[in-house]
Amino acid sequence: MIARFQQGNMNASPTTSTKVYPDYFRGKVLHIVSRHQKQQYIEPVLTSRLGFICKTVSEVDTDLLGTFSGEIARTLSPEDCAREKCKMAREYVSDGYLLASEGSFGPHPTLGWVTAGEEWLLLYDIEEDAELMVRDITLDTCFWREAISNEQQCLDFLQRVGFPNQRVIVKSSQEQPEIVFKNGTTPEEIVQNMHNMLKEKGNCYIETDMRAMFNPTRQQHLNKLAGLLADKLNSVCPDCGWYGFSVTSVERGLPCSWCGTPTNSVSNEIYTCKRCNCYQNKKFPKGIQQEDPQYCNQCNP
Ligand SMILES: [Zn+2]
Ligand SMILES: [Zn+2]
Repeated sequence: MIARFQQGNMNASPTTSTKVYPDYFRGKVLHIVSRHQKQQYIEPVLTSRLGFICKTVSEVDTDLLGTFSGEIARTLSPEDCAREKCKMAREYVSDGYLLASEGSFGPHPTLGWVTAGEEWLLLYDIEEDAELMVRDITLDTCFWREAISNEQQCLDFLQRVGFPNQRVIVKSSQEQPEIVFKNGTTPEEIVQNMHNMLKEKGNCYIETDMRAMFNPTRQQHLNKLAGLLADKLNSVCPDCGWYGFSVTSVERGLPCSWCGTPTNSVSNEIYTCKRCNCYQNKKFPKGIQQEDPQYCNQCNP
């Protein structure tokens, strides 16, 4: 089903105009900034749900902002990295919309013992000089690295990560490696490069390639992010009709159904319009007015 915009309230304040209406984005050009074929996983969603005409900007050397394999360290936050990619792309694009993404992999921010993948998608509206961001974190990620010193270890790693669907990188040290081997497609090539590095440098590390085109779980995640972005673009301000009306903060304290004590669960979501600053307080976003006692500190300490 193709989602369409609700008609905005025409009594918006005089400083804003209702610009978003059904099919607002249909036929507009969205430039996806990527060197790693991310458009494949993003474009179908944004084309079918919003009607964007997608083009790819592959001229921007996004690797300058940092590589997953560690030759270039990333110094910006992922959000700023995505922002910078859009900025760099302005050299090639003068109108429409820009879209850039950035991923980050490592220990989960709150569940520190598991590995998580975090992705950001940033849409930049050139005419309005406005941006819209979505972020998502998943435990379904393929991110592994280890030191290897013999063929069996190497082959075990390849099997575990699902090579060659999931590609790998072999390098001579974890950080700022002098020798890096990427884009290998056969176990023989990987093993040969391992032997070369062990002989020349005494060390060899193998890791999953996190570039989108070589990492199937990341591709699925980008596809999900594109859906979240479409949801956000489809959500319009009830006052001025502008896109991106979305949750900017939450209130907690949903009462326990047994004892009535406020729990840590979300009771209200605050939606804000970036354009006219109007907001809405939506109660009980989960559709329940009381929380299960298992989440209550009194009933289930
Ligand atoms: Zn508004
Ligand atoms: Zn309780």
